[in-house]
Amino acid sequence: MSDHILNRALFDEVMVPNYAPGKVIPVRGQGSRVWDQDNNEYIDLAGGIAVTALGHAHPELVDALTEQAKKLWHVSNVLATEPALSLARKLVDLTFAEKVFFANSGGEANEAAFKLARRYAWEHFGPEKHEIVSCLSSFHGRTLFTVSVGGQPKYREGFEPVPAGISHVPFNDIEALEAAITDKTCAFVVEPIQGEGGITPASQAYLEKARELCDKHNALLIFDEVQTGVGRTGHLYAYMKYGVTPDILTTAKALGGGFPIGAMLTTTHIAASLKVGTHGSTYGGNPMGCAVAEKVLDIITRDGVLEGVETRHERLVSHLKQINARHAAFRLVRGAGLLIGAVVDEKYEGRAKDFMTAALDEGVLALVAGPNVVRFAPSLIIPEADIDEAMTRFERAVARVVKG
Ligand SMILES: *Cc1c(COP(=O)(O)O)cnc(C)c1O
Repeated sequence: MSDHILNRALFDEVMVPNYAPGKVIPVRGQGSRVWDQDNNEYIDLAGGIAVTALGHAHPELVDALTEQAKKLWHVSNVLATEPALSLARKLVDLTFAEKVFFANSGGEANEAAFKLARRYAWEHFGPEKHEIVSCLSSFHGRTLFTVSVGGQPKYREGFEPVPAGISHVPFNDIEALEAAITDKTCAFVVEPIQGEGGITPASQAYLEKARELCDKHNALLIFDEVQTGVGRTGHLYAYMKYGVTPDILTTAKALGGGFPIGAMLTTTHIAASLKVGTHGSTYGGNPMGCAVAEKVLDIITRDGVLEGVETRHERLVSHLKQINARHAAFRLVRGAGLLIGAVVDEKYEGRAKDFMTAALDEGVLALVAGPNVVRFAPSLIIPEADIDEAMTRFERAVARVVKG
C-alpha cells in the first residue's frame, strides 16, 4: 500500500474536514489523463469540476502562465495591467457585455453580481427594490450571500442568520416565476443548466419568460454561467444557445482552465452603479490568471473546438446509452455539450456516489451532481479515443455496482 509521507490519512490529520477526497492523490496530468503517486493512470471525465476545459498541462496555457510569471505577478487594482485589459477587451468583443469585473472564483463573481443588482436598484428605484429571486436546487457559491441565494437549504444550515430579501421558486416553473417577480425584485438569477443541482437544463420557454418578466418589472436578469460557460455547452456561453441575453453574466471555472479566475460581465449602464470604491478585490484580475484565461478563450474560439464539443457529446452519450442497454443502471441521460448527467435508476436511488467511486477504482475520474446523478464534464478537446477507453472502464464500474 501507500508508503508516501503525503498521503490520504494526512488529510484527516491536518485539514478541515469539509471535504471527503477520494483515496488516491494525483500528482501529474497530461491532456485528459492524470497519474497518482503510484503511477496509476486515470482518464479524466471530471475536469476538476468542469474546470480544466483544455485538459491538463496544455502547452499553450503553460507558456502563457510561465511567460507572465516571468514578467509581472501583482500590482493590485491601484494600477491597471495589460493582461487584465486585454482579457476584458476579449470578453467584451465575444459577448453581449460592455464591462467586466474580475474576481478569483465563481462565488466571488456571483457576490459581485448580487451586490451590483442591489446597488443598481437602490440607485435607480430606491431601497424597497432589493429582493432577489432564485431557483430551488440552484447553486451559486459558498459565501454567505451566495449560499443564501442558492436554492439548497443544506448549504445554509447552521450559518443563519442569512441576508434578508431572498426568495426561491421551483426551477422551470413559469407560473411560480410570474408570481414571484414583482416591482420589488431587483434581480432574478438562474443557471441555464443547473449544475450542482443535477445537470438540469432550463427550458427555452422558461428563460424567455424570465427575460420578459424582468423587463416588465425593471429587474435584472442574471445568468450564472460559472459551470455552463466558456464552451461547455458547445457555445461560448449557454445564453447564446438559448438566444436569451442576460443583464449580468458570471463566469469562472473553465475560464482559467485550472488557474483561479472569475468574472462578472454586464452593460455600461448597469456597471455604472459600481462607482469607485463601492466594490473590490485584492487579487481580482491578477496578471497570471488573466494571461491564462485569454489563452483559454483564444483556443476555445478557434475553428472546430466548439463544433468538436457536439461531436464528443454524441459519442459519450451514445456510449452511456449502450452501457445502459446492458446494465439498466440509469433512468435517463441529460445535459448539453460536455456537461452530461446520467440519472440513476430508482433501484440505485441516492447511490450516484457508488458509481463515481467504482469509476475511480476502474481508472476514470467522474463526478456526481447531487445524490442521483453521475456527472461528466471532461476537457472540451478530449481525444475521442480517450472517451472510448474511459467508457470501456466505466462500463466495468457500472457492472460492479449493479452486481453489488
Ligand atoms: C461552481 C459554481 C459556483 C461557485 O464557484 P466557486 O469558484 O467554487 O466559488 C457558482 N455557480 C455555479 C453555477 C457553479 O457551478
